[in-house]
Amino acid sequence: MISDSLKSVIRDIKDFPKPGIIFKDVTPIFKDPDLCSKVVDAFADRLKHLQIDAVAGIESRGFLFGLMLANRLGVPFIPVRKPGKLPFSIVKKSYELEYGSATIEIHTDAFEPGCRVLIHDDLLATGGTAAATAELVTELKGVVAGFAFVINLEFLNGRDRLGSFSSDIITLTD
Ligand code: AMP
Repeated sequence: MISDSLKSVIRDIKDFPKPGIIFKDVTPIFKDPDLCSKVVDAFADRLKHLQIDAVAGIESRGFLFGLMLANRLGVPFIPVRKPGKLPFSIVKKSYELEYGSATIEIHTDAFEPGCRVLIHDDLLATGGTAAATAELVTELKGVVAGFAFVINLEFLNGRDRLGSFSSDIITLTD
């Protein structure tokens, strides 16, 4: 099972990047090309009932499987970036974190109106980052086709935050 393979390599790093956080380190997945292929296969299989015209990956760990998945599906990849990184005209969205706030940006020509965009990140925590991405997709007149994450921190109820954008929320470790 893909969930068991993933759980056996994803590391819990206590108090990183600050005290009280248990950081899920996904870097060991990328040391194993066979596991990487299985992750992409699992996403593609669980998403096959959806029409997906583009994959939006959230900086930076969402770029890793996001690009691989977009390639597998044969659709464009859209980088969702932290402020000041995208060189063309952008739309941006700020959102609240547990402590402080964050901002993400997308190019205004990232996709055409009506495009069905799958939003991908490595991990779903509170859902704030993915929800802000969904708002940007909607602002640019795209349609949120669904969400795909490797890990879900279930106790933070991120799914509840995303349900109004799409009921298709795929996670691989639960
Ligand atoms: P959230 O917006 O609360 O759903 O947080 C998701 C974003 O923060 C993703 O980009 C994750 O990579 C990162 N993140 C949040 N919590 C953790 C964690 N415990 N371990 C690793 N990354 C995390």
